[in-house]
Amino acid sequence: MITCSNCETPQFLQITQSRVYFEDGEMINEISETYECTLCEGNGRYVYDEDRNKETVTGDVELTTERPKFA
Ligand SMILES: [Zn+2]
Repeated sequence: MITCSNCETPQFLQITQSRVYFEDGEMINEISETYECTLCEGNGRYVYDEDRNKETVTGDVELTTERPKFA
């Protein structure tokens, strides 16, 4: 799950750009999404590389597990 690292909630995040890469007509299994938080106006990017099963986030967003932070 993607959350805003400033607000610590995904509630105000909007995807502003989503992209799947292609090369030579073949789909490369990498997904890039840009997020904007409408509460704090933060911006961040999420990239998922399916071949390497690797997720990367930059900017004002962070990856969290499905579990709530404060149980
Ligand atoms: Zn925020």
